[in-house]
Amino acid sequence: MIPTNPATPAALTQLSPDERLFRDTVRQFAAAEIAPLVRSMDESQQMDPKLLRQLFSLGLMGIEIPEQFGGAAGTFFEAILAVEEISAVDPAVGVLVDVQNTLCINALIRWANEEQKQRYLPRFAVDTIGAYALSEARSGSDAFALETRATPQGDSYVLNGQKLWITNAKEAGLFIVFATIDRAAGYKGITAFLVEKDTPGFTLGKKEDKLGIRASSTCELIFRDCVLPSSQVLGEPGKGYKIAIETLNEGRIGIGAQMLGLAQGAWQHAIRWARERKQFGKPIGDFQAMQFQLAEMATDIEAARLLVYNAARLKDARQPYLKEAAMAKYFASQVAERVASLAVEVFGGSGFVKDFPVEKFYRDAKIGKIYEGTSFMQLATIAKLIL
Ligand SMILES: Cc1cc2nc3c(=O)[nH]c(=O)nc-3n(C[C@H](O)[C@H](O)[C@H](O)COP(=O)(O)OP(=O)(O)OC[C@H]3O[C@@H](n4cnc5c(N)ncnc54)[C@H](O)[C@@H]3O)c2cc1C
Repeated sequence: MIPTNPATPAALTQLSPDERLFRDTVRQFAAAEIAPLVRSMDESQQMDPKLLRQLFSLGLMGIEIPEQFGGAAGTFFEAILAVEEISAVDPAVGVLVDVQNTLCINALIRWANEEQKQRYLPRFAVDTIGAYALSEARSGSDAFALETRATPQGDSYVLNGQKLWITNAKEAGLFIVFATIDRAAGYKGITAFLVEKDTPGFTLGKKEDKLGIRASSTCELIFRDCVLPSSQVLGEPGKGYKIAIETLNEGRIGIGAQMLGLAQGAWQHAIRWARERKQFGKPIGDFQAMQFQLAEMATDIEAARLLVYNAARLKDARQPYLKEAAMAKYFASQVAERVASLAVEVFGGSGFVKDFPVEKFYRDAKIGKIYEGTSFMQLATIAKLIL
């Protein structure tokens, strides 16, 4: 008989007892507290302020923050589980939690100095939402072509420029903003700054009216002679490109989890409908054609989950995960679009109207192929790493 090591999980998707408890808690919370708000938040394009407070009090806005700073001292994998479970109910809330944990908090834990950690991590744990501002009108995929300037002036920097499409901007209290201190230096001039909401010279611009994830705010940021002391530099001057690359590598797994959760949510609704809806005298789920579609969706979701969990586990184990993260985001966003589209078809005409949740999942799925690196950019990363 082959001896088995009880410490080795039988499958990559198997969770430890602690992880299972955490996942189940988030799942119950999402079903009880988020589900009733999904439609109204989508229609009003607003996050419910009470929901935001609940997310903080459950510890979901500071999953990886060390205990000494008031956080839950959890793992990256737990952050991924939270994003997945929340996105299975509302991908708009999923991205809010994702940006907070996988981009902003991760960037601070990795790059902030002790004084910045003392100042900001406890706030992130209790009531402050973060936003991550890299993109501009003329620099999306080519992010390091950014034009926002940070001109050194004594012991300060003066920011001038505009950022576009910044998630969480309306609710955020702290922004990680990328600007160049020296355009001639190319990517080596890019520097990350910590910008508080009320800093003079910083205002929010237009809020986007979007196809999907409508409750998630996406706004323009405007900097006009915004003076920041050099103590607001995150990491070192000129190292912003490294911070951006490294945080986005992690963030990609988060978007993979958002898309995985979305697909799972759409599939669950499709299964329920296939059991309930009767045509030709029996549930539509009794027809083999329907069963095969649902089976194909389940297979896709399982494959996406393996990729996402694998990348997250590698990250927690401090092993290389770049290729795996890009594959997870690339594949999970394809699966989300495919599964959400099939779910609409399983619902028939009811799938096309707002009375049922699959219509929203279908709209929400599109963004997975666009933000935090388009699908083409993921393929470019994968190709570079395998060739
Ligand atoms: C809802 C939403 C939320 C967002 N949130 C944030 C945020 O919080 N922070 C932030 O900084 N940004 C955010 N973004 C911006 C997002 O990351 C960019 O939209 C994305 O990176 C793509 O950039 P772009 O829109 O300029 O498209 P472009 O870069 O102009 O790309 C257009 C098309 O060209 C393709 N393309 C470009 N270059 C290549 C190439 N070399 N090879 C092959 N194809 C290529 C792309 O794949 C795409 O299909 C958000 C965007 C949206 C819509």
